Amino acid sequence: MTPVSLAMAAVHVPDLRDFTLPELTQWIGKMGEPSYRARQVFRWLWRGWIQDFGEMTDLPRACREALAGQARLTPMSAVKVQSSRDGTRKILLRLSDGEEIEAVLIPEARRLTACISSQVGCAMGCRFCLTATMGLHRNLRPSEIAGQVVALQSALVPEAPITHIVLMGMGEPLANYVATEKTLHILTAKAGLGFSPRRITVSTVGLVPGIRRLARSGLGVNLAVSLSATTDDLRDRLIPINARYPLSELLQACREFPLAPRRRITFEYVLMADVNDSVDDARRLARLLKGIQCKVNLIPLNEAPGLPFHRPSRSRTEAFRKVLERAGHIAPIRESRGQDISAACGMLATAERLLDSPRSAPYTTGCGVEQSGSSLGS
Ligand code: SAH
Repeated sequence: MTPVSLAMAAVHVPDLRDFTLPELTQWIGKMGEPSYRARQVFRWLWRGWIQDFGEMTDLPRACREALAGQARLTPMSAVKVQSSRDGTRKILLRLSDGEEIEAVLIPEARRLTACISSQVGCAMGCRFCLTATMGLHRNLRPSEIAGQVVALQSALVPEAPITHIVLMGMGEPLANYVATEKTLHILTAKAGLGFSPRRITVSTVGLVPGIRRLARSGLGVNLAVSLSATTDDLRDRLIPINARYPLSELLQACREFPLAPRRRITFEYVLMADVNDSVDDARRLARLLKGIQCKVNLIPLNEAPGLPFHRPSRSRTEAFRKVLERAGHIAPIRESRGQDISAACGMLATAERLLDSPRSAPYTTGCGVEQSGSSLGS
């Protein structure tokens, strides 16, 4: 097959892991299969990372062959794993078109959190974020977003279940809304991975229409909003999308976001020395968030070559926190994990490292081996 015809085939032959369970039920129904079949297939797709329809051993052979003829399972391969001194581990995954993404596994006392990406690169251009320097290569598909959880689980911690998922890796999930919402349906489906929505957090730079749509979806996942400035003037400069969705509109959408009892919106505030870390900033932040059921994660900037900002001193960070706490806000200081392996907040940027580091030998995991074109559905 030529690359062009292969691409055409990829467009027309669906990857079954891009389907939510209702979509799969409808698609399989059109093949003349009973609806319980969809549940059976969905379980195979998500409770392991099968490569081949032949592995669905409790399906009739004719059904497996029909699936193989009309659908595909796109491989995703782990090409590199890095471990941090603090126990955080980062996996580099290569997608079928050669693009690469990173996902991070963060062990804590009683949690095992998967931090996953929603896009290859990002278009938002936040001035303090390394992913932004890549620009946007492309959106990820639901199979590629949810697949990162399976990849982390099977490659890194087959023995202990991942307990929480945060969409805080590369990309802006609400700029890839449809795939993000499908992913959330896939992750929470009981027939598959069965995550409670309360254990999933979507982090956004503040795309107001996306926040409202997520609210209307009724999915019940947690919302995190990366605020990082208390005036439109400064936020416009740090986070360009603020010019489109200014603070007042953003905070209004947050006020209206439905929260279950005892749940809170998380506001992330990346602290940058002499930029947004003054006591006045802290007072303005406390005022802005008044009346919103929330907590503020204070994240001292992770510095990187090429980023024009610095992290504040510990004492300035503490002073900032005290102002918030005195105003009644919960405001923990979050040192992001995995700094020594560039797995920390804002540090995921595969294209950059492609240029300067030799790639280690491809390494196979339960999430997929490198395969030839045939698995692309030719
Ligand atoms: N686009 C989404 C999710 C990805 S960014 C969002 O903006 O929320 C994940 C988090 O990392 C965001 O809170 C972002 O503000 C933070 N971040 C980005 N660059 C950082 C840096 N250099 N140091 C610390 N945190 C950073």
